[in-house]
Order: sequence, then structure tokens, then C-alpha cells
Amino acid sequence: MTDLCHSNFLISINQALENISTALAVLHGDEILSLHIAQARVLSEQCVAPSDLPAFANSSMDGYAFNSADIQTTDFELIQTGISWAGRPFFSKLERGQCVRIFTGAVLPLGADSVIMQELVEVNEIRIHFPANTQAQKNIRVKGEDVKQYDCLLPAAKQLTAVDLGLLASAGIYEVRVKRKIRIAFFSTGDELRPVGSVLTEGQIYDSNRYTLAALLDNPCHEVNDLGVITDDKAQIRQSLLLAAQSNDVIITSGGASVGDADYIKEILDEIGQVDFWKIAIKPGKPLAFGHIQGCYFFGLPGNPISVIATYQQIVTPALRQLSGLSSTTPIRFKAICTSPLYKSPGRMEFQRGILSQIVPGEFTVCSAGKQGSNILSAGSRANCYILLGREEGNVAAGEQVLVEPFNLFL
Ligand code: AMP
Ligand code: MG
Repeated sequence: MTDLCHSNFLISINQALENISTALAVLHGDEILSLHIAQARVLSEQCVAPSDLPAFANSSMDGYAFNSADIQTTDFELIQTGISWAGRPFFSKLERGQCVRIFTGAVLPLGADSVIMQELVEVNEIRIHFPANTQAQKNIRVKGEDVKQYDCLLPAAKQLTAVDLGLLASAGIYEVRVKRKIRIAFFSTGDELRPVGSVLTEGQIYDSNRYTLAALLDNPCHEVNDLGVITDDKAQIRQSLLLAAQSNDVIITSGGASVGDADYIKEILDEIGQVDFWKIAIKPGKPLAFGHIQGCYFFGLPGNPISVIATYQQIVTPALRQLSGLSSTTPIRFKAICTSPLYKSPGRMEFQRGILSQIVPGEFTVCSAGKQGSNILSAGSRANCYILLGREEGNVAAGEQVLVEPFNLFL
């Protein structure tokens, strides 16, 4: 166990992320789900195309199917011999001099290799007049042009999007094998905490972190167990942790991670698990505990509400994504012009809460969302991004470029 909490040594966030990433193993176990409940789940194996997509050559337009050998240098006429509807093909073979009325998605008849848009022809009963510049092999969707039979339709570890579900369904696949959900228990610690709805006495506060964490954890890949508030009682915290470790993959706590007199988490974890306590050079969110209790991963987050959110988003989220088997754990970051001054002392990397605006498509400005204290939820609520300020950076003047990270976008 590394006890860096008593020392003034600060580790970088990248070091903390690397330590955690090295310690995590992808969770074992998967389940088979029907497509309609598979959105945002992670494939545990690749999906192979059972057939070509599209499965047959068809028209991409409403028009007339014909053989390009009939095209002439001047305008010309072909005789319509039938109709190919979507779902009701024209089964005869097209002979020279003939054409077939065809609709979008309808099978291209045998003998045809081209479709002309209906707007470009003149129709005189069954005599169809084609213009001089009629082009060959247009408006056709070739068999297998999207995906070839036995090609990889979707790779393993892909998080299923709406498009993926459409792709699978178009290939006739109605079930997928996905990673099982991560079982995550969380609780708040602190004698001062009362549930929303109760009457507070002097010095008590409402337990807001549990609402925040529940919302942050709400994800199709998670099965979440809210264990409530545990008072700063060593025996109770110990019992809750041991019990939760039996049936969860991850435990997340908020509060009690620093070394105040009532901060039992560290003491308890020394007894029942293997946990490192770090002071991370980030603001908000300096103290963090990470380790395991009997094979269950443990994240001890700080108590201050904005610290909980920042450490969850910056440290726990990539870890949970890794556990889910997702390779994409890097948040999207880009530069924007900062329109307000920012105040910062060198020493810790800061994740200031900012308001990002798009001035014209592709051009962004950002300003501070307000007071930056780790207890200031109102500024966090106004924010839609983090402004990242490097560890050794100082104040930022209005007009300078800064790095921003919109909430919840990953590459
Ligand atoms: P701690 O890390 O336990 O020392 O808590 C740091 C600060 O966060 C204190 O002001 C706590 O009252 C506050 N805090 C801890 N847990 C919560 C919670 N669940 N909801 C709101 N504030 C909290
Ligand atoms: Mg506390």
C-alpha cells in the first residue's frame, strides 16, 4: 500500500490514470440480447455479415431500368414491358429495345444494367422516350456494395449505436453477444448528511452527492446499487464495504477519503483490502483512493460535490469504460478563445467549469461558469465543459486560447 496522503507529494493525473488502467482487467462474462435492448452495450465478439448487403442489385431511383447497350448518340425510344416494384420484382428477362418501370429498392431485372430517373424521360403509354445524353450504369445499387458476405460487420468491443443496430438488423441479425453490465455499488459517508426530504438541524446538510453519482452512473452498461448514506462509523463502513464487495464489481464512495479525524475509509481499507491513497495534482478533487476489496475495485472519491463530479468524470469514467471493454477512453478536447480572465495558482492541473459557445460552426469561445470552489454546484450547473489549465500554468487573460473538454464526449 502506498500512503501518499500524509505526504505532500502530488502525483499527476496521468500517473493516476496509468496506475488505475494497469490494475484493471476487463470484466469476464457476457449475455445475449435481442437488438431492441442492445443500444449502447458493448459487443463481446465481432459480428460477421451472413450475406451480401444489399443482397441483390436494385434501383436507387424511381425511373426506368434498361440495358446500356441500347443507348444511342441521339435520343431514343424503348418499350416498357413491365414493372419492378420494391418487394415485387419483374421476373422476366429484359430484351434489347425494352425497358421496365422501376421503383427505389426494387430488384434490377435480368438484362438491365442502368436506371434513368423518371423526371428525364417522356412517357407515351408504353413508349418511353430517353434523352440524347442518357448515361450507362447509373442509379444502381450493386449487390454487396455496402458489405460483402463474411466480412466483419462490426468489430468486438464496439459500443452499439443506433446506426449499428440498423446495420445488424439489415443483415438479419436479431441477437448479439454483449459484455455483461458492470455491477456498481455506491454510498455517501458523513455524519452531517441527511436524505433530501428530512428536516436539517444545525450543521447538517443534504446528501447531494448520491443524486449526482446516481445520474452520472446511469448508463446501459452499468447495474447500479445505491447503498445510501453511511455515518462516519468505522464498523458500519467496514460492514457495508465487505457486503458490497461480495456482489459488485466496483464500489464508489464519496467523502471520508482524506485524513481528517473522521476519515475511516483509509483505515478500514488497510484492513480489508488493498488500496492506494493518492494526492493527485488536480483541482478540484485532490484526494483519491483506488484499490480493491476481495476482487472488487474500489474508488474513494472526495466529499466536496464538484470534486466528486470531476474525479468521477476524469478518473472513474475512463476506468469504467476500460472495464466494459471499450478502447475509447480519451475525452474530446480542443482549443477555444477564453473571453473571461481565469484565476489560477501554479501547482495543480485545474478542471475549471466553463461555458462553451459556438460563435459560427467550428469556432468556439469559452468563459468561466463562475466561482470555482469545489463546493459551488451552481457554477457547475451552468457549465457545459471543463477548461483545462496545465499544472504549472498561472492566470489566463481574456482573449487567450485555452483547452476545453465538453462534458461526455469520447473518441
Ligand atoms: P469529506 O471528504 O468527508 O471531508 O467531505 C468534504 C466536504 O464535502 C465536506 O464539506 C462535506 O460536508 C461535503 N460532503 C461530503 N459528502 C457529501 C455529500 N454526500 N453530499 C454533499 N456534500 C458532501
Ligand atoms: Mg466526511
